[in-house]
Amino acid sequence: MELQIQDFKLILVGDGGVGKTTFIKRHLTGEFEKDYKATIGVEVHPMTFYSNYGPINFNVWDTAGQAGNDSLGDGYYIGSDCAIIMFDVTSRNTYRNVPKWHRDIFRVCVDLPIVLIGNKVDLKDRKVKAKHILYHRRHNFQYFDVSARMNYQFEKPFVYLARRLTGKSDLVFNENSALLIDRIVES
Ligand code: GDP
Repeated sequence: MELQIQDFKLILVGDGGVGKTTFIKRHLTGEFEKDYKATIGVEVHPMTFYSNYGPINFNVWDTAGQAGNDSLGDGYYIGSDCAIIMFDVTSRNTYRNVPKWHRDIFRVCVDLPIVLIGNKVDLKDRKVKAKHILYHRRHNFQYFDVSARMNYQFEKPFVYLARRLTGKSDLVFNENSALLIDRIVES
């Protein structure tokens, strides 16, 4: 039996430089993007994962490295099914801006599943320690440490969102569903 693909719009937000574009590229190419390219505008990346409930496709909207940390237009948020807010664990400022991104989303979207992710956990000079990350608890969304560079916990936010969106708490992705395998980062 062919299972119908399920499509969701996912908005990926966070300050410039936190690693959003690199994170997306982990899925598409499995390659680590070494250069910072401050491209302009929005890019939509279809990211498909194969699960025990059939294929799940996230159309991931990336601001593609907006120059500053300015709010995005309403058009960016309209019709979103879920969101990922990303910060950089080596930059306190990017964590301080998480409430701003959260407000931006909620200005337009009501009640959608959100995952907060702290990227670059592979770096030694972590400034935002796990015990200091409390924002998600107050707002009832999930948090994951990730490293786009090491491909650490890459799939976790997507599994969580897929479960919330489908209502299937036992949903799992098939092995290599994104053609990538998690590596454990030594801490
Ligand atoms: P964006 O502006 O949020 O899209 O950020 P980019 O994806 O362009 O990344 C900004 C910089 O951070 C680039 O130089 C990336 O190579 C680097 N970067 C992204 N993710 C990681 C990571 O997990 N670990 C490390 N060490 N560097 C990263």
